[in-house]
Amino acid sequence: MRAYVPSYQLISPASLSEALEVLLQDNATWKPFAGGTDLMVLLEAGKLQHKNYINIWNLKELRGIDVSAEQVTLGALTTYTEVQDHEVLRQEFPMLCQAAKETGGIAIQNRGTIGGNIVNASPAADSPPALLAYDAELELVSKTGSRRVRYSNFHSGYKQMDIRPDELLRTIRLPRTRSDRKHYYRKVGTRKAQAISKVCFAAVGDVTNGRMESVRISLGSVAPIPLRCTKTEAVINDRPLNADTIAAAKIALAQEIVPIDDLRSTRNYRSRVAVNLLEDFLSELEDRR
Ligand SMILES: Cc1cc2nc3c(=O)[nH]c(=O)nc-3n(C[C@H](O)[C@H](O)[C@H](O)COP(=O)(O)OP(=O)(O)OC[C@H]3O[C@@H](n4cnc5c(N)ncnc54)[C@H](O)[C@@H]3O)c2cc1C
Repeated sequence: MRAYVPSYQLISPASLSEALEVLLQDNATWKPFAGGTDLMVLLEAGKLQHKNYINIWNLKELRGIDVSAEQVTLGALTTYTEVQDHEVLRQEFPMLCQAAKETGGIAIQNRGTIGGNIVNASPAADSPPALLAYDAELELVSKTGSRRVRYSNFHSGYKQMDIRPDELLRTIRLPRTRSDRKHYYRKVGTRKAQAISKVCFAAVGDVTNGRMESVRISLGSVAPIPLRCTKTEAVINDRPLNADTIAAAKIALAQEIVPIDDLRSTRNYRSRVAVNLLEDFLSELEDRR
């Protein structure tokens, strides 16, 4: 059933400071409203639980993409279109650009934000696997200050994460490293476009003198949270790239992921596709030797 719109409140603070002040009021009942592409779906379905919303779309403190020698810092309100248009992101973080390109249609890409994708915390979201593989760090702000959280430590359970009701996600930082690594991103869905992932796979890494190094692997839609697969990485890193290592890595990944049966796919299909994508990534890594 559709929601009764007048029962909701939406206010538009003029500054970040004002927004953070509001988040402290009324027993933390105010929620951020960014692009609204997740929240409006809930509103239409009559499932939007909270009644009080803060429109953060106009806060310039949460916008912009800043490039320094060590990192690229994205404001939480960075849209998928802005990600795809950014030259440094295209050069050095192509998996994030590919995730942005494969997210929804053009209207969603113009309005949906990376910050909203992170805090909405869907295990099937498409940018989190890329952000995990790039070892992103989040900056959270509140009236009392700011703190940084490694993205790999942010999600703790289904829709549970390390953010307080009085905090906003302000920035996402991506450490810059060599851009000539192998970047491998695959979104597997029912269709090529406008589909929710059955499996999403993101991995970076390199091979030097026959040994794999700096390999980071992350998946979506195979666990209650976007999953960084550190156990599988441990089987791969600093090991020779050969048939034995590939076989061991496939076993490790199958044990590390916890896919489920749901309306989009099955546990078996997800497990098989995830392992096949790992093998494909490693074989493309082998081609670089
Ligand atoms: C038709 C359609 C297709 C879609 N396709 C895809 C897809 O292919 N892949 C995919 O991953 N997603 C998809 N989505 C989901 C959605 O577009 C994304 O998750 C988007 O990134 C959400 O961003 P937003 O700014 O619109 O978030 P909002 O809807 O504004 O907010 C989402 C949640 O995040 C919180 N939030 C937002 N910003 C902040 C912040 N800075 N600090 C703290 N909390 C914050 C909000 O309170 C809310 O809980 C689709 C949605 C639609 C409607």
